[in-house]
Amino acid sequence: MATASDTARGSGARPVDAARWAMWTFVAVNVVIVESLFLSAGSGKNGVLTVAKFFGLHAAVLILFQLLLVARLPWLDRRIGMDRLTVWHRWNGFLLLWAVLSHATLVVLGYATLDDASMGRTFVALSGVPASLLGMWAAAAIVVVAVISTRPLRRRLRYEVWHGLHLLLYVALGLAFVHQLQETTTFTSSAFARAYWWFLWLFAFGALLAGRLVMPLWRNAYHRFTVTAVVPEADDVVSVYVTGRHLDRLPARAGQFCVWRFPGHNHWWLANPFSLSAAPGGTGLRLTAKAAGSASAGLRDLQVGSRAFVEGPYGAFTSLHRTRPGALLIAGGVGITPVRALLEEQAVGDVVVLYRVRSEADAVLLDEVRHLVELRGGRLHLLTGRTGEPGAPPPFGPDSLHRLVPDITDRDVYVCGPSAMTAAVLSGLRDLRVPARQVHSERFGLA
Ligand SMILES: Cc1cc2nc3c(=O)[nH]c(=O)nc-3n(C[C@H](O)[C@H](O)[C@H](O)COP(=O)(O)OP(=O)(O)OC[C@H]3O[C@@H](n4cnc5c(N)ncnc54)[C@H](O)[C@@H]3O)c2cc1C
Repeated sequence: MATASDTARGSGARPVDAARWAMWTFVAVNVVIVESLFLSAGSGKNGVLTVAKFFGLHAAVLILFQLLLVARLPWLDRRIGMDRLTVWHRWNGFLLLWAVLSHATLVVLGYATLDDASMGRTFVALSGVPASLLGMWAAAAIVVVAVISTRPLRRRLRYEVWHGLHLLLYVALGLAFVHQLQETTTFTSSAFARAYWWFLWLFAFGALLAGRLVMPLWRNAYHRFTVTAVVPEADDVVSVYVTGRHLDRLPARAGQFCVWRFPGHNHWWLANPFSLSAAPGGTGLRLTAKAAGSASAGLRDLQVGSRAFVEGPYGAFTSLHRTRPGALLIAGGVGITPVRALLEEQAVGDVVVLYRVRSEADAVLLDEVRHLVELRGGRLHLLTGRTGEPGAPPPFGPDSLHRLVPDITDRDVYVCGPSAMTAAVLSGLRDLRVPARQVHSERFGLA
């Protein structure tokens, strides 16, 4: 278990900085290589086709970044966090969309100019060329994924439906890969170009396969996770205890989450992220879930002895990112789960907990939190009430935060709760000038 001294880094390089540096170096090196390949391959049949080629090359490299961002590589995930990687994946996705649309439009325009034909006629003619047709299908799939990922549509679709459709991206990748193989210009302009693209595709697909398939399958075969107890915590909250073989070898930390499937209980495609609600001590794992929909509500009926398929652990909401000896842990509602686990870590040091709930009866795991805070000689403030009640000051405004925790700027602050609450806390912390490097938050939403 990590201790306060080995994790509270005052001025040393932070793990997140190392990961960011590695990522930006990777991006920069690849951008330089792609620009050089573009320049050395020479121009296209006309100016428009040269620009089309430029966008095509960049779309290819963006596709590969897209794969790496969702490959769930443990080194990156622990340092940057899946939520932030997912946000980058989203932005990279929109860049990719524009690169693909520009490439496709300019290819049609370029050939239309060359043949002195209309764009419609050129489009039809190009769709008869296998390499172009594959590119068109790939572009169409990318457009569909981008459209369903826009906020208004994403909100309307059930998570599983959206996620299922999102997997079209893999179809697009396969098509784009073959489209690229059949292209005989820039991608194959030299032995180096050929080797570079093959390396990049193999690296990205290899990382994706390793992170999303091989590692989870291997881990589940090795640990053989099994449900040992299902304990109701409240009317709509349940804790599930899971054990397995060699759990001391599972690289899990307090504050992380796993993606859980319960074969035989739920459909195989239902996988839900839940934080570890107790520090993973090497003998068992625990999740605590509030009923939000059918999968989380159904956990109550899980049978003891049933198998669990566990992906992860994931996330950067851990003491790895500590910078100060003292910590303030802020939780709202069921956001208490990773906070409760963090409380067990020595590394959290001198601790204050703010726990926001509507009423004390709604405070899940309250006795455990009280007990752990007492053991640590810390302070717990249970903040009851509903935000927006007439006359009630906002609980996470800068004044309230400073009154409750006068030395707040000297602490690491961990926040986990509903989006509106998290946003209010982050804004209060900014007003109080708590350095950004000391602020760590976890969102209970990935997409
Ligand atoms: C990192 C993380 C940690 C979480 N930890 C906890 C926890 O400790 N305790 C707890 O009660 N809740 C936690 N949640 C929220 C929990 O995952 C959702 O409440 C649960 O998945 C809802 O599933 P459902 O099918 O019951 O409900 P639905 O009605 O199907 O879903 C409700 C909402 O939950 C989200 N959701 C559903 N499935 C997924 C999924 N596979 N991946 C991402 N989001 C999904 C969607 O935004 C959806 O709109 C966590 C979420 C994340 C992202």
